[in-house]
Amino acid sequence: MIEQTQLFDCQSKKLTQKLTFYSDLKKLNRACSNCDHCYLSQKRQQVVVGRGELQPDIAIVGEAPGKQEDKAGQPFVGESGKFLLKILKAVQLDSRVYFTNIVRCRPPDNRKPTAEEIKACQPYLIDELRLIKPKIIICAGATAVAGLSGKRESITSLRGKWLDWEGVAVMPLFHPAYLLRKPSLEKDSPKWQTWQDLIAVKLKLERIIASEIRN
Ligand code: URA
Repeated sequence: MIEQTQLFDCQSKKLTQKLTFYSDLKKLNRACSNCDHCYLSQKRQQVVVGRGELQPDIAIVGEAPGKQEDKAGQPFVGESGKFLLKILKAVQLDSRVYFTNIVRCRPPDNRKPTAEEIKACQPYLIDELRLIKPKIIICAGATAVAGLSGKRESITSLRGKWLDWEGVAVMPLFHPAYLLRKPSLEKDSPKWQTWQDLIAVKLKLERIIASEIRN
């Protein structure tokens, strides 16, 4: 599966539309539901595929499903997901959003997914993002950044700095579960910094939409 996608990419550098192995999200999600490519598949209650707006302004990429997500079969429905939605609402970025994760099955005891588990799930994530074509991607936490871009740095140094994934602007944010543990709203606190990062996302999105209308 990976080879086919990569092969097409190498064959035509001029391709503007990236090719996908799965022709639509339904097929991709069906494959995810039957997936047994890594250890996490043995431990899951449910596969947690993406949800939300299918032609989104913003795709949120998280680390992995937690207990609530595993139970519901939906990403970002637990406490940190609700908090994330609240802060997106506060900057009016909540209306055209798609939520997904680096891995689609819950790691036991909420541990971080291993490199092998991330690699096993990566073809699904790549196809998913190519199919939905978000205008901007937000990565929640360092594991999400590493899983998408390969960049392994602390989220403190990554956050607030734009990255690029296949021509799409990527903003790394503190993970909402981390923000829930940091009550301070003072200048330079993680919550304050996240607010700045979301304002930067909003401004960029407005510029992207304005340029789409012009062209
Ligand atoms: N819920 C998810 O689906 N992913 C996260 O990273 C956190 C909460």
